Amino acid sequence: MTIDIQRVTGGAGGEVLLIKGSEKTAVYDAGMAYCAERLVDNIKEALQGKSLDYVLLSHTHYDHLGGIPYLRQEWPDLKVFGAAYGKQVLERPGALKRIRNLAENAAKRYMGPDAPAPEYNDEDLRIDKVVGNGDVISLGDRTIRVYETKGHTNCSLTYFIEEESILFASESTGVYEGNGKMHPSILTSYQEVVDSIEISRAINAKHIYSPHYLLIEDSAVAGYWDLCRSAADEYKDITLSLHKKGLSIEEIIEAQRKRWRTSYTKEEQPSLAFEINARAGVTAIIKELA
Ligand SMILES: [Zn+2]
Repeated sequence: MTIDIQRVTGGAGGEVLLIKGSEKTAVYDAGMAYCAERLVDNIKEALQGKSLDYVLLSHTHYDHLGGIPYLRQEWPDLKVFGAAYGKQVLERPGALKRIRNLAENAAKRYMGPDAPAPEYNDEDLRIDKVVGNGDVISLGDRTIRVYETKGHTNCSLTYFIEEESILFASESTGVYEGNGKMHPSILTSYQEVVDSIEISRAINAKHIYSPHYLLIEDSAVAGYWDLCRSAADEYKDITLSLHKKGLSIEEIIEAQRKRWRTSYTKEEQPSLAFEINARAGVTAIIKELA
């Protein structure tokens, strides 16, 4: 079987995939704001006159939704699907400000210190249609099932194309780096990450797209969820053992940075985002399990 899913990513750090059905078209995530113009061009070229109907939002982090306002300009009828919690997040001024700060930081990181700040209206970052467990989105000849998979954020979703058994793995379950390496992405809860890994495993997908990495080689699919589990466990164990030894949050973050921040993640994730994520994850695990 050939998988007709196109990579339409506009620039480093925020992957976007185009899924075409017989009736509707969708992108999985919307990438970063700094490269959204190229994203729009890539999608237009791939759609050849058809319009873009849906965004399937994995979660509300800035590197997954930054392109939405730019997509709305091109396709005003665009409908953005996301979690109920994500809809609330995007109504909070503090969250919108943080997204903007990270978008500005990423523009400088990827385009140079003189990069202009991305221009968009906060209200365009909204979720139009809330989806959760049991919901199904039809593209005509492709049916997409939705699963709630928390742990990276409370709004993290997994999407699964039933006809071709393709799963778009939630960042809660981890970020694959290739060569059997997995990067854990625990932010809100270790237990929720474990639950999300097991929910995803049970779907028994034949093909897996990992966040930021994209399509996993067929040979890595069978061991994928075990790899997610061991990365999450190691991250949790490092946190708890250093906490027990009396190390501070800062020192534990530094240890996690040494363990996980490889050249791959440096390219995919600016240092500020790593720092924010590690602080959230380490703090959550201590609160949850220590
Ligand atoms: Zn994220």
